[in-house]
Amino acid sequence: MPCYRISAKSVLLGDDLLSCTDGAVLVDDGQIVAAGPDATVSRPDHAAAIDLGDATLLPGLVDAHMHTFGMSSRGLAALNTEREPYRALRAAGELRELLHAGFTSARCLGSSIGPDLRRAIDEGHIEGPRLVVAGQFISSTGGTWDAPPLPSSWGRATTAVADGAEQIVQAVRERARSGADFIKLGLSKGGVQDRYHAWGDDPHAQATTYSVEEVRAAVDEAHRNGMKVSAHAIGLAAVNLALDGGVDIIEHGYAIDDQTRQRLVWEGKIVVTTISQLYFHRAAYDEFHYPDWERDVYERHWLAMRRDFELGLKVGIRYALGTDLVGKPTHPLSRAAKEFELAVEWGMARETALRAGTVLGAEALGIAGVTGSVTNGKSADLIAVAGSLSNLADLASPILVMKQGELVPGFMKAVGIPSRW
Ligand SMILES: [Zn+2]
Repeated sequence: MPCYRISAKSVLLGDDLLSCTDGAVLVDDGQIVAAGPDATVSRPDHAAAIDLGDATLLPGLVDAHMHTFGMSSRGLAALNTEREPYRALRAAGELRELLHAGFTSARCLGSSIGPDLRRAIDEGHIEGPRLVVAGQFISSTGGTWDAPPLPSSWGRATTAVADGAEQIVQAVRERARSGADFIKLGLSKGGVQDRYHAWGDDPHAQATTYSVEEVRAAVDEAHRNGMKVSAHAIGLAAVNLALDGGVDIIEHGYAIDDQTRQRLVWEGKIVVTTISQLYFHRAAYDEFHYPDWERDVYERHWLAMRRDFELGLKVGIRYALGTDLVGKPTHPLSRAAKEFELAVEWGMARETALRAGTVLGAEALGIAGVTGSVTNGKSADLIAVAGSLSNLADLASPILVMKQGELVPGFMKAVGIPSRW
């Protein structure tokens, strides 16, 4: 493994991302072995020196919620019928773009091909972020991802549907068998109109999909297998169900009341933001001819999400940044850094947003001991951006990306390292 000594005008150090002026990081055998003021970091003869000048060096970004569907974002109704080899190849291209966009880790929260993509990345066959994967969703009959236009038998055939503690336990064991690291449960299923299942017409009137006994069965079996559980939970009833059932991480988590907000704080739960999902829908309304009913759904969710994000910041909810991006054309993974900008636009402090998309993200993925900050002993997952990073929009165009101590091809020439690719 190559050894690098990287210096920059500013290095964001440790779990608090403290800015160190004229800093340096020494990377050896995939790990950060020293980090601090330039004068304190040794210069071994065998280390390749990279001087980034006025740039800012920081931990690689973490997307705590995305999907490796490998499908057109406007054709997800065919998710269970499109051939998986095509989906995997398409997703591989998009994962490469996500890595090149500065994301050295990501959590795929629902896709049957996630575990195999993770394996192909870990074995070095394709480029992509370090992945933590949920594998296939787990949904009740008629629940979050069991949409009426498809015959019930299809959801069952792909093991996405499980009802009752017994089937849920089996589904969790199937995920463990397929190589998943996480369990993704759908706990809210939309409102009266229910036209786009996972979201539903009224965020405040979402019906729940499982009993608390069913949720506890999933959580117990997941924990027995060393896996954590994330829940798709929009609306008061679903978020309380997730908390009552012992779910580890809350996805979306808005359209709730003050009492539940406080409960999230007391229990120290991480809520994953997913602002980008709605932002990119809104940006695509005209070009992709969204019908009025669909725009109305997203507008209602946008307002509820924004309101609750602002209230959540006030009481101190622990947010991790997740995009819920699913792919081109409307939701390209290459635009994942937009979540930082959106969080700041909605009132999150710049430093809090940076931590939410690195340190907290790594915690949400269950790998806080491995990555998420520039800390001795952690994996050398690093990015650099030109200038002082006073505006988080600059995260969208990194000038260096390093994952597990290896410079990502494409960034080597830019920093004067001969490419072996
Ligand atoms: Zn999602």
